[in-house]
Amino acid sequence: MADSSFLDWPFFEERHRKLAKDLESWASAHLAASHDASIDEACRQLVRELGSGGWLKYAIGGIAYGAAADNIDTRALCIIRETLARHSGLADFAFAMQGLGSGAITLFGTEAQKQKYLTPVASGASIAAFALSEPEAGSDAAAMQCEATQRGDSYELNGEKTFISNGGIADFYVLFARTSESEGSRGITAFIVDAKTPGLEIAERIQVMAPHPLARLNFNNCRLAVSQRLGEPDQGFKVAMATLDVFRTSVAAAAVGFARRALEEALRRATSRKMFGQMLADFQLTQAKLAEMATGIDAAALLTYRAAWLRDQGQNVTVAAAMAKMTATETAQKVIDAAVQMFGGQGVVSEEPVERLYREIRPLRIYEGATEVQQLIIARGIIKRFKESELSQGQVKGTEMTHLAGGRKA
Ligand SMILES: Cc1cc2nc3c(=O)[nH]c(=O)nc-3n(C[C@H](O)[C@H](O)[C@H](O)COP(=O)(O)OP(=O)(O)OC[C@H]3O[C@@H](n4cnc5c(N)ncnc54)[C@H](O)[C@@H]3O)c2cc1C
Repeated sequence: MADSSFLDWPFFEERHRKLAKDLESWASAHLAASHDASIDEACRQLVRELGSGGWLKYAIGGIAYGAAADNIDTRALCIIRETLARHSGLADFAFAMQGLGSGAITLFGTEAQKQKYLTPVASGASIAAFALSEPEAGSDAAAMQCEATQRGDSYELNGEKTFISNGGIADFYVLFARTSESEGSRGITAFIVDAKTPGLEIAERIQVMAPHPLARLNFNNCRLAVSQRLGEPDQGFKVAMATLDVFRTSVAAAAVGFARRALEEALRRATSRKMFGQMLADFQLTQAKLAEMATGIDAAALLTYRAAWLRDQGQNVTVAAAMAKMTATETAQKVIDAAVQMFGGQGVVSEEPVERLYREIRPLRIYEGATEVQQLIIARGIIKRFKESELSQGQVKGTEMTHLAGGRKA
């Protein structure tokens, strides 16, 4: 059982502590570290189990559609991802994609769309996916070429999406396509594309180091009714960014979960491995490493739950979420690498927990905005804030001068 003392931090309410405790028991009973079934089947099964366990209701918003609350509780989302990641990367993936794939519907969907898509996502009867990236538009998502042309009361979708998680097993894709000639992020619209839509083809299944369903998709003259449009026309980029603002913080939480598991494994190893007449943990070099690992994890968790708490207070979290994602994923990579090192040869044996964690963590530093993209978001955010405060101070100074000059402009 991992250290759960962080739940005493003031970010949390009693319901969060109860959620963490209940999920910990459920995960201990239900989740094995590895799955014998094919990755697709293991994923489908996990979605069903997470649905029947009642956990997926935290991945969506709207009590009327089976959610735990009307708004997504970001702290609950993060606690769930952290806990699942500590037990099983695939379970975390299955949970996270239900949220990311349907998040735009929670945030921007019509009543009819929410009824149709969110309810089965929450029960685990339907699998969701988020299709933004293209072969020539990853970090630069606004460079997308996939286009949807309006013809009467429907759109015709043509193009390609790649690196789409749940590609091949999803029941629907929240997809972003260009709908007008406008450059860059303007002129992009979000749609809900049912997996059975004629013209949607799984062009390639992509195998990655931490296996999960992933695919490249082709769209050839796919007909989408106007009712499948999600949000306002040409506002799709905002839809995508608002969705990522919620789920980016949860990527940080997953990284914290992976790191906590690595520290737990490292502590077990260091206190039981004998060498040179004492335990590995008795060496100061080991103690220094363990201290760095534990401190890094707490720093990452503090940033993560600050971002989650801020969002739950209704505040803008673009910068805070980017700080959390960057710090947590980069820290987790270092913590896991240190754990592998402490295991020696055993650390690189296939399916050893630390070996698995080593593969699991790597993509988190790339998807939902690579670390470099988070750096840009943070820097832009703080520069903007600085300029705004300079401007408002200038205005205050200007007002003071006006007062001093007896109401005349000085
Ligand atoms: C396992 C996995 C699952 C994924 N799931 C999904 C999904 O479900 N849906 C979806 O839409 N996409 C998904 N993606 C795609 C993911 O979002 C992209 O891979 C990511 O945005 C990076 O894009 P890219 O791969 O095209 O790399 P590129 O955009 O070519 O970037 C390559 C590298 O360049 C660096 N870089 C980027 N910007 C800058 C900059 N401004 N300055 C300096 N360096 C920079 C970064 O290190 C980056 O890793 C997934 C990817 C992976 C690996």
